[in-house]
Amino acid sequence: MKVLKFGGSSVASAENIDKVVAIVKEKSEEGKLAVFVSALSGVTDKLIAAGKAASQGNEEYKDILNEIENRHLAEVRKLVPIANQSSVLSQVKKLLNDLENTCEGVFLIGELSAKTLDRIMSKGELLSSFIISEKMKAEGLNAVLKDSRELIKTDSNFGKAAVDFETTNLRSWQYFNQAADVTVLPGFVASNENGETTTMGRGGSDYSAAIVAGAINAEVLEIWTDVSGMMTADPRVVSQAYPIEKISYGEAFELSHFGAKVIYPPTIQPVLEKKIPVWVKNTFAPDDAGTLIHENGNGNDTIIKGISSINKIALLSLEGSGMVGVPGFSKRLFEALAREAVNVILITQSSSEHSICVAINEADIIKAKTAIDSEFAFEISVKKVDPLIIERELSIVALIGDKMKNHAGVSGKMFSALGRNGINIRAIAQGSSEKNISTVINEKDVKKGLNVLHEEFFEKPIKQLNLFITGAGNVGSKLLDQLKKQQRFLTEELRLNVRVVGLANSKKMIFNDEGICLENWKEQLSNGEPMSLTAFAKHARVKNMRNSVFVDNSASEDVAQVYKEYLKSSISVVTCNKIAAASEYQNYRSLKRAAMDHNVRFLFETNVGAGLPIIGTLNDMVRSGDRIRKIEAVLSGSLNFIFNNFKTGVSFEEIVRQAQTEGYTEPDPRIDLTGTDVKRKILILIRESGVAMEMDDITSDPFMPADCLEGSVDNFFEKLKEHKQVFDDLYTAASARGEKLKFVATYDNGKASVGLRSVAPDHPLYKLDGKDNIVLFTTDRYPDQPLIVKGAGAGADVTASGIFADIIKTVL
Ligand code: ADP
Ligand code: ASP
Ligand code: MG
Repeated sequence: MKVLKFGGSSVASAENIDKVVAIVKEKSEEGKLAVFVSALSGVTDKLIAAGKAASQGNEEYKDILNEIENRHLAEVRKLVPIANQSSVLSQVKKLLNDLENTCEGVFLIGELSAKTLDRIMSKGELLSSFIISEKMKAEGLNAVLKDSRELIKTDSNFGKAAVDFETTNLRSWQYFNQAADVTVLPGFVASNENGETTTMGRGGSDYSAAIVAGAINAEVLEIWTDVSGMMTADPRVVSQAYPIEKISYGEAFELSHFGAKVIYPPTIQPVLEKKIPVWVKNTFAPDDAGTLIHENGNGNDTIIKGISSINKIALLSLEGSGMVGVPGFSKRLFEALAREAVNVILITQSSSEHSICVAINEADIIKAKTAIDSEFAFEISVKKVDPLIIERELSIVALIGDKMKNHAGVSGKMFSALGRNGINIRAIAQGSSEKNISTVINEKDVKKGLNVLHEEFFEKPIKQLNLFITGAGNVGSKLLDQLKKQQRFLTEELRLNVRVVGLANSKKMIFNDEGICLENWKEQLSNGEPMSLTAFAKHARVKNMRNSVFVDNSASEDVAQVYKEYLKSSISVVTCNKIAAASEYQNYRSLKRAAMDHNVRFLFETNVGAGLPIIGTLNDMVRSGDRIRKIEAVLSGSLNFIFNNFKTGVSFEEIVRQAQTEGYTEPDPRIDLTGTDVKRKILILIRESGVAMEMDDITSDPFMPADCLEGSVDNFFEKLKEHKQVFDDLYTAASARGEKLKFVATYDNGKASVGLRSVAPDHPLYKLDGKDNIVLFTTDRYPDQPLIVKGAGAGADVTASGIFADIIKTVL
């Protein structure tokens, strides 16, 4: 005989019940079935709400009852053929009348005992089992309704009654000895020795089915629900979770005990004793394999089977010098908690015995505190024990797997994955069974923690990378383009799933946790909400996603101001904006420090030479112990364009104008010509070489007469015209020597300067076309021939690809 249980969502509507009946029909061809059903989904909650409202003298309970009534009557009308409807409707009404009477009683006396609540709650399953059995009969099945209260006997602990297995087993065995083909039974409900209705705890229908499966030594227990098995994590929190193929009883128990709602934890015990296999199956996808819970995992099982979590946890810490070496302290602590029926979920004790830490449900805080304060009142008064420390808003996240005990390094991997993502661990416990490693973390970090661990232990090596991008202009849109094109490659080749979860320009911003569709981001962005840097940062912080990166494609000072906030929230920063790295040294250092302290990256390769690997190369040299002696570089595409095209027959003024028109310079070309931009770049290289330097420490040799710098841009061009001879002389002098003019940045022996130089043909800087950049590093390891990096140093496409590379570097 098989025992099947269909949960609340499986029987939520007439349409779903049709699916249940189809499954039962098919199964019944192979043998007899006991079919337990839950209440229609949501009904138990509604019943509790009605009872509570009634007990508070709130007439709204009647509305709730009406709603319950209408829902059930409607289901009957849809499910049962017209010919049988009136008798079924009248039975249903009878149950509903009884419910109404009970609630009215509660309303009148203004009190709701646990016993009465059980009577109220039981109606959910009594109604559903009756309706479903009638539907099965109408479908031609040889189906019988059996009230489980006649089979399952419990004590009188209403709300969570304990089963009297001896009586229950005997009654069930006798009954099912000669049962019909299909016996439909209400889950969740039972009765005490006086025949009063009891229930077995929320979610208890699973347990009812397991109790009977154990009693009759069923061939199998099938738990039919709305997911395709027990999954590696709660699918509502971890979208990448997937069904576990096989799992041991012990593992299934631990997973459910630590929050995997899919099975009510006590369910495992009755089937474990008789070694009855349990299948968790999906009513809505019956062909999916589902999960087999059985005696032992097979040989090639994974080490970790699942991850689960419990929210609303409080941590109590009892500390004090008086506890060291004194036997019986923990005994007194646990006894005090037990007396108040406080359930201890996790315990840790430091090896110094100086403190004991226990995790309990937040709801039990007051009971626990009162119990502990009174138990240790004397010790607290003589200061042998400190007053109890209570921390709340915590959660337990647990890794479950039988094989953990034989494998080193699981906990290390767990802690470092959490740590890398800025998740602080408050306490740790490894169950003595070693099936379980639990950590206590802040409740706000749970979603992130579960996803981080899931990624670490199950998705490997697919990593999720979550980008918050500001700046969607030239560089930004190229970056989005490249991201879109590379998505497949990244997933297939690098096992990296890169999603843009936040996107903003200076006016609008949009978010999508699952990743903004990059096909039509422009349109989406134009319909976004108004951009606010603070709101954007807050969103990224609150979402608290693992592997988050803030990408700044702007040149804005305001954006550069908020980097620190991101870094402090364990979000990496990748930017082509030079402002932060070239700001006061103190600020640059503190950003680097913040990145280090929070285990994230602050990367700005594109600050110098766009996509060229200049900073990366420099970092590699310095990290491996090389020392930078000298840097010579041409770092301005605009100045290069100007001096490459400045020749006899063309005036300097004309060429600067052309550069301006073609967009090679800033709108005010003086920003380029005075070398401010180049100064910033060499400053960043010097700092990355390990030298503390400020902008003002860099000298610049002006090559333009001073009055060119005064007044408007128009005035500037006028002055260039006026001083034509000055520039022509510079050119003629250089070309007379066979040399070329280059705007060069130099760092040598602790001193830095920028300025126009005349460069001889044998110098590496001589041959530099178009907008190319070049950097020469002379170091201890490259003392004679410098290490040279050369190539296109400007342009949206190459800048975007440099940013792209930095983004990838944050996780690889
Ligand atoms: P039923 O009504 O069938 O008893 P439940 O709602 O009690 O179903 O349990 C199924 C739900 O449990 C799933 O819809 C899922 O959201 C949740 N759940 C939490 N953790 C897990 C897990 N590890 N595996 C599968 N489901 C889980
Ligand atoms: N209907 C009960 C509840 O919601 C029992 C169950 O569904 O398992 O808790
Ligand atoms: Mg359930």
